[in-house]
Amino acid sequence: MNWQDGDETARAPRTVGKGLRYFYRSMLLRCPTCGERPIFPPARKTRSLTDWFTPLDGCPQCGYPYEREAGYFLMAIWGVNYGLIGLGAMSLYFILRINTDWNPLWIFCGTVLPAPLASILFARHAKSMFLALDHFFDPHLRTQKRQKKSD
Ligand SMILES: [Zn+2]
Repeated sequence: MNWQDGDETARAPRTVGKGLRYFYRSMLLRCPTCGERPIFPPARKTRSLTDWFTPLDGCPQCGYPYEREAGYFLMAIWGVNYGLIGLGAMSLYFILRINTDWNPLWIFCGTVLPAPLASILFARHAKSMFLALDHFFDPHLRTQKRQKKSD
């Protein structure tokens, strides 16, 4: 597979099947275009937390660049990671608070308190999901850049 194959995948019509395929690949932390190579470096090459949370520059298989611009993954952390974890924890808290007569402190300790840890554990998947979402709704194609330069 080369970059052009990835372009063809990105040009294919947006269907539920294509969305599910991208979501599945993001849950496996794999390239949204080819789905064959991981987005993050392997654990044995990780030396620090920065290495752990930083995606590779691009896919080693198809060459798809993961980070479009500086700060590209900021929305992944704020929107996807904090959004899902924070909203999920608070929703669970209020659902349990309304529907049970459990001690509110214990509900808080079981739902909201673990949220920061869950957020750290979910950060890589949040970046991967954001990458897949962005590639699904706004695929960037190498040929578009070439056309802009020639205009
Ligand atoms: Zn790839």
